[in-house]
Amino acid sequence: MTPPDSAPTAALGSRQFRFGAITIDRVLEFQDAIFPPAVVFPQATRAAVESHRGWLEPRLRDPARGLLMFSFHTFVIRTPRRTIVVDTCGGNDKPRPGKPRYHQRHWPYLERLAAVGVTAENVDAVVCTHLHADHVGWNTRLVEGRWVPTFPRARYLFVRREWEFWREEYKTERFTGDPYHEDSILPILDAGLADFVESDLRLDDGVWLEPTPGHTPGHVAVHVSGGGRDAVLSGDLMHHALQCAEPEWSSCFCVDPAHSARTRRAFLERYAGTDTLIMPAHFPAPTAGHIVRDGHGFRFLFDEAAHS
Ligand SMILES: [Zn+2]
Repeated sequence: MTPPDSAPTAALGSRQFRFGAITIDRVLEFQDAIFPPAVVFPQATRAAVESHRGWLEPRLRDPARGLLMFSFHTFVIRTPRRTIVVDTCGGNDKPRPGKPRYHQRHWPYLERLAAVGVTAENVDAVVCTHLHADHVGWNTRLVEGRWVPTFPRARYLFVRREWEFWREEYKTERFTGDPYHEDSILPILDAGLADFVESDLRLDDGVWLEPTPGHTPGHVAVHVSGGGRDAVLSGDLMHHALQCAEPEWSSCFCVDPAHSARTRRAFLERYAGTDTLIMPAHFPAPTAGHIVRDGHGFRFLFDEAAHS
């Protein structure tokens, strides 16, 4: 199911979304069926997953292997004044012995950015919804043996609460992850490109951050509003559409699963039945969609027009 590294963007669900004068493009790093449901969602029972099978397969779950489908992508927001990159995936050449799917990869990510008209030099701001390895990878790239900022003219906006949590967490015995702090975050500080910001920062007219803590303490969503339409880039507030049907299922990656579940349910309640386009960080193509109520839970209805 893994697309070849050279797969053209057009085959990967690329499409531009427009909100008045603001556009959003989705730029893929990779998409694949990778997790058994009960691994990523410890509360998931076989019976519950089976009950959702009718709408999960094949887009959201590989019928042959039973694995859930995940996408890893960046969103590019362009306003009349600024080009903003949201979440920077896993990155190339990164040593990730603990996570083979991110380890020493060579994705044509910068080529795919170029295909939607974005060069590294014309990115003004980089937003990481949170500081996990799959959201910071392209913050840097390897040049002559050194990790250098991929976007040399950008300000990298790290939510202060998030940075302060991980700065300490990385030092503890609990932290057994890969060295992404060293190769994807600290080089940005060393280059003087990091700004520590509040979780409700306004980035431009019609673009602002919204606090959505739980998955991590300083997790944020990015709200876009223009031309009478709204979108929310919701990061890892939910990893998979199963969590609309089962809002209590937090992922094994959540720092505070109970808080994550509360934030998710409040988010689903807030946007259910509205026209707001929800754009999560890991939903496979076409990625964007709307939330509707369905019994005691919710459903995610993909924006099928987005599948080009
Ligand atoms: Zn993630």
